[in-house]
Amino acid sequence: MIKTELIFLGPPACGKGTQTTKLAEYLRFPHVDTGSLLRNEIKNATEAGIEAKKFIDKGQLVPVELVSKIIKNRLSKDDCKAGYILDGFPRSLEQAEQLTKINDELDKNIDSKFRAIYFDIDTSVLVERIVNRRSCSKCGEIYNLAFKAPEKEGICDKCGGILTQRKDDTREVAQSRFDTYDRETAPLVDYYKKQGVLKSIDANGTIEEVWSRLLDVIE
Ligand code: AMP
Repeated sequence: MIKTELIFLGPPACGKGTQTTKLAEYLRFPHVDTGSLLRNEIKNATEAGIEAKKFIDKGQLVPVELVSKIIKNRLSKDDCKAGYILDGFPRSLEQAEQLTKINDELDKNIDSKFRAIYFDIDTSVLVERIVNRRSCSKCGEIYNLAFKAPEKEGICDKCGGILTQRKDDTREVAQSRFDTYDRETAPLVDYYKKQGVLKSIDANGTIEEVWSRLLDVIE
């Protein structure tokens, strides 16, 4: 068996969350979403959560030691043995190096296939997408009031949970998240291209169009 390790790159609200959730169901791999793991720590008021909140509220990256530890813990679990879908990590060169270390440690004597999938998108539409984004407080399903509205206002179609807006999905914090992305995360596209493991997809268009392009690059 070859372990499949898929990571995803792209600016905030490029559609990664929606597509990687779908892909995880399709491939039957766990969807490891760093943002959700951190928000969970905040909800449980853990020490890590209290520290992470200071950065998340400003649209900055949470310190690398903290986030690497959470990711290492999660990727060490049994359900990641056959493969994983990693959404939101790495987000800097330093984190990419940490991920290599984590994989080296966990994959001793295992064959693995590592791919970085880049969502290439016109960023001018993304701030509007962010301010219209809502998610279910119960099951995590993502909605958008502009193009994927729930049938009943404020209620999740899937599970009937209440829809909420993320605290960092405001215009101001979004701008700072884009600046952070340009400075810290965008260089990873070249980094993985040079390693020969990058696949790019055109992430403009509908959820179905992007899904079909994503399936084309997953062998
Ligand atoms: P997301 O849900 O992916 O949009 O992430 C929300 C916020 O969580 C980001 O703006 C960061 O503050 C924090 N965060 C998520 N992933 C990471 C990461 N890999 N490294 C540092 N901070 C992160």
